[in-house]
Amino acid sequence: MNEFKGLIIDSIDYKEKSKIVYLYTPYGKESILVKAGKAYKAGNLGMITTLNEVSYVKSKAKLPVMIEYHVLNSYFEITSSIEKIKAVSIILEIIKNIPIDSNHLRCYDFIIKTLNDLKNNSNTKKVLSLFLIKMLYIYGVNPSLKECVNCHNKDNLVFYDIQRGGALCSNCTLNNTKEKLDIWTEYYYDKKDINDYTDIDFDKLLKDIGSYYNIHLSINIEKHLGA
Ligand SMILES: [Zn+2]
Repeated sequence: MNEFKGLIIDSIDYKEKSKIVYLYTPYGKESILVKAGKAYKAGNLGMITTLNEVSYVKSKAKLPVMIEYHVLNSYFEITSSIEKIKAVSIILEIIKNIPIDSNHLRCYDFIIKTLNDLKNNSNTKKVLSLFLIKMLYIYGVNPSLKECVNCHNKDNLVFYDIQRGGALCSNCTLNNTKEKLDIWTEYYYDKKDINDYTDIDFDKLLKDIGSYYNIHLSINIEKHLGA
């Protein structure tokens, strides 16, 4: 029998004492029926706990039934502070919205890496900022960071315009807050350890990211960021 792995992103009650569990896997989203009862060993809790990464064997039904599983990693402990609960709720919302035709394998690895960063790094806002900026690529709304969104000039880029979704050159704007463009470019393109990304005012950055998601993806993450 084939064994699969996935991250539990949600679960709902289904009939008597059963649950439907929603997972994000390296192949995309999946729903599994987890039955309670004699047929299964006690201790199905691991298979219905959000943020558990599990490996599992399932039936071939249209709504597959979980046959057996074990917990690979638990990220539930991440939700030990209000700030991390907010970050996790945003991450789960983003996962639920991942387009069907995405590169799920790559995406899955990145999500697990992000959860590990959340677990190990004390700067929650930094981890969340990096996650949200990199996920733009998955959503296919790549910010134009290497040429001016107005005149397509590739030189003298001086500003990053959230509203227009990209860089502006010195001919097209008087605003030369280059730091903003540098940060978005670094966070979008660079592949390095979370600790090696430049630190800035993450409240400000998350506000910009929230606007970006709102304007270009119609995803409201600001509601999760509020107090
Ligand atoms: Zn321009």
